[in-house]
Amino acid sequence: MPAKADPPTPSTPPTPRRVRSIRRRLREVYGTPGAAPHGCPIAELVLTVLSQSTNDRNRDVAYLRLRERYPDWEAVRDAPVDEIEEAIRPGGISKVKSARIRSILRAITESRGELDLDWLADVPVAEGQEFLTGLPGVGRKTAACVLLFALGKRDVPVDTHVSRVGSRLGLFRPKATLHEMHDAMLELTPRGAELELHMNLLRHGRRTCHGRKPECGDCALSRMCPSAGRLS
Ligand code: SF4
Repeated sequence: MPAKADPPTPSTPPTPRRVRSIRRRLREVYGTPGAAPHGCPIAELVLTVLSQSTNDRNRDVAYLRLRERYPDWEAVRDAPVDEIEEAIRPGGISKVKSARIRSILRAITESRGELDLDWLADVPVAEGQEFLTGLPGVGRKTAACVLLFALGKRDVPVDTHVSRVGSRLGLFRPKATLHEMHDAMLELTPRGAELELHMNLLRHGRRTCHGRKPECGDCALSRMCPSAGRLS
């Protein structure tokens, strides 16, 4: 059964002061994530495709099987799609994901003349977003994962947790599209806090601000949340 939609959030413009308070409270609860960018944009792209509709563990099993089976990304690109599908089966919806991964790898090669995304580190974020979202099935969230997690660029992925928690906190315009939410997150995220805010909103969505039954009574943000106590 699909989750019932939240009632509209009272208007609470995300002033820099409010965002600072939210960031501070989240940091007190979850700490400051410190992962450095890993420098492998193609790996991040494939990992993000594999993460769709599954949990982290199954995603990682599928990813490791793919890496064990092929010596490099060119070999994945040139492999029969049913072979890729078999390799990533533990990650679920493998038929769709295998076709998507291969089309993405082929599209990069066709567009750039080689299978390489390291150049994204040296171009403006907007150019990277434009290139990545032009790849088959790649949206703003996946592009932001690649730019932030692999390359440490200024972008913020808005996944299902970040969009839910951010909407309840009144950070986004009611009924904002995912594209708008990405623009809004970038605007309200202090420079250098991209990874921290993304990770801590995500953790908060997983641990406290659940989709169906948010635990507002135990929530560190309840005093600054316009949705507190309105969703149960
Ligand atoms: S008060 Fe409730 S709705 Fe607001 S962030 Fe906390 S758990 Fe989510």
